Amino acid sequence: MTSDRRSFLKHGALAAAAATTAATATSCGSMTGAASLTRHPTGPLTLRFYPYTLQLKHVFTIATSSRTTTPTMMVELEGDGVVGYGEASMPPYLGESQETAQAFLSKIDMRRYPDPWLVGDILADVDALAPDNRAAKAAFDIALHDWLGKQMGQPWHRIWGLDPAKTPVTSFTIGIDTPEVVRQKVKEADIYKVLKVKLGRDNDKEMIETIRSVTQKPIRVDVNQGWKDRSLALSMCEWLAGRGVEFVEQPMPKEQIDDLAWLTEKSPLPIVADEAITRLEDVRKAYGVYDGINVKLMKCTGMREGHRMISLAKALGMKVMLGCMTETSCAISAAAQMSPMADWADLDGAVLIGNDLFDGATIVDGKVTLDDRPGIGVRKLA
Ligand SMILES: [Mg+2]
Repeated sequence: MTSDRRSFLKHGALAAAAATTAATATSCGSMTGAASLTRHPTGPLTLRFYPYTLQLKHVFTIATSSRTTTPTMMVELEGDGVVGYGEASMPPYLGESQETAQAFLSKIDMRRYPDPWLVGDILADVDALAPDNRAAKAAFDIALHDWLGKQMGQPWHRIWGLDPAKTPVTSFTIGIDTPEVVRQKVKEADIYKVLKVKLGRDNDKEMIETIRSVTQKPIRVDVNQGWKDRSLALSMCEWLAGRGVEFVEQPMPKEQIDDLAWLTEKSPLPIVADEAITRLEDVRKAYGVYDGINVKLMKCTGMREGHRMISLAKALGMKVMLGCMTETSCAISAAAQMSPMADWADLDGAVLIGNDLFDGATIVDGKVTLDDRPGIGVRKLA
């Protein structure tokens, strides 16, 4: 076979995988350099998982709760001597736990998936095993993507054809707290160019004024549905617009659709959906109600659906924020792979914890930074 022919096969295979349609066995064979049209004899991958509890550096308070730890479930898929890593981060308010994740992952029978390259079919089948369990599904999805990317020898941002130079600036999140603690957190956020501030209690203006007493960095505001009255929400948006705020995330309860559409039309700041957005079908519902959406892998079942949600939102002319939970560098790096598609990123989850298990995508000079490691781009620590 000529080198041209081999090169054609190799690039054809990459394009097939990039479409994230069910990649064929042909692509796998050629990616391993064999340029063969025969089916790759990988066989079913081995699935492992174990619980892990993230220790938060600070007590984290949003409009509805406070906590110091986040339960996670770490997932590994192994085959051909390659391990793919995944993670389910499960802040309690989302309704999943280590127990529910364990129960869900135990239902996955890997013998049903002798060809791990049929990613679309496999993930649809796993999704149908039980409703919800979205973080557990994401953990499996991320581990499968990591394994596939490692087999292809490419990071997902390259497989998707994304420019790593176009990763967005990421924000550092500051929870609701006393002025003293808020000032301390602003100092810790020194390397970040943008701050994300949680509002929605009775000290909103004090929070913003405290931050403005120590820095003029741009601020993104997340209200977590904390404002109930649309006139109050509009007057807050107008007040915030004069104080260097970029956008307002989920200002009102997601059920108040008419009020949110009214606010989006009148607000001088973009209004971004978060709690209103879970999966692909929610993007269409958000169109006309919000200016943008916040995509989180733990809510949307992982990289495959996250990538599709961002593609749809961009096609509808909407803005995209790529968010996270408190997570290790495993899930953060998985999200970072698609971050060049996002307008805004909030991928500080691994920075907020004290016991990361992975080395992966980093924040350099406030920007999400990707390297050339294959798959989701992580290395397990010790
Ligand atoms: Mg939010």
